[in-house]
Amino acid sequence: MPEKIFIGVAWPYSNGSLHIGQIVGAYLPADVFARYHRAAGNDVLMVSGSDLHGTPITVRAEQEGRTPADVASRFHNEFLDSWKRLGISWDLYTTTGTDNHIRIVQDMFLRLLDKGDIYQASMKLPYCTVEKRFLLDRYVEGTCPICGDANARGDQCDNCGNVLDPIDLTDRRCKFDGSEPELRDSEHFFLPSSTGVRTSSTSPSALSSKGYTTARLRETLSGASLFPSGATAKSASMSGSKT
Ligand SMILES: [Zn+2]
Ligand SMILES: [Zn+2]
Repeated sequence: MPEKIFIGVAWPYSNGSLHIGQIVGAYLPADVFARYHRAAGNDVLMVSGSDLHGTPITVRAEQEGRTPADVASRFHNEFLDSWKRLGISWDLYTTTGTDNHIRIVQDMFLRLLDKGDIYQASMKLPYCTVEKRFLLDRYVEGTCPICGDANARGDQCDNCGNVLDPIDLTDRRCKFDGSEPELRDSEHFFLPSSTGVRTSSTSPSALSSKGYTTARLRETLSGASLFPSGATAKSASMSGSKT
């Protein structure tokens, strides 16, 4: 009797070309596993898709003067070509832009909201009065409150490696025009920290950093029911600037 084998492989992010580490780390082993089970007569479903959403896509689009959708679809098409040429044998490969994906994600989100596992609150975010828009964390620069480096970014200090919040910086300035951003209220959704679950627009490199880990440990040990600091609250933000 054939076994049912489901293989859910990491969804690659459509903000740049695939690199060999992704192929070696995720896609090739999954494909070998899938091919083995198909050959053994099992019922295999190997699925994944391109993630078309997120801050890095928006940042790249802004740098290139294109729309985020342009950037995302360009790399999605490149991924499709890579899968074909590498012979990665997906049973289903879609994107986060399909109607099905949107429906399921919104359904999950609304259920969590309904159960109180997500709550809405207001937080202060940097707003550029020159460009008349809220700024992504990384578009704010200033002095790091931890090491004093004068060129820290609002999301992270490259000098000491700590994850930051723009509000933590002193001498805050807009990366593009140098003006001092105002802190304005903005509505966001949050996960209570006691659930131990976290959504994030933080990059994987930031996620693995020592500073990030230390901050999360501190937060867990403090037992706070809400995200207490701007940094934590912001990283848990799920709305507002749709990243
Ligand atoms: Zn600005
Ligand atoms: Zn620093």
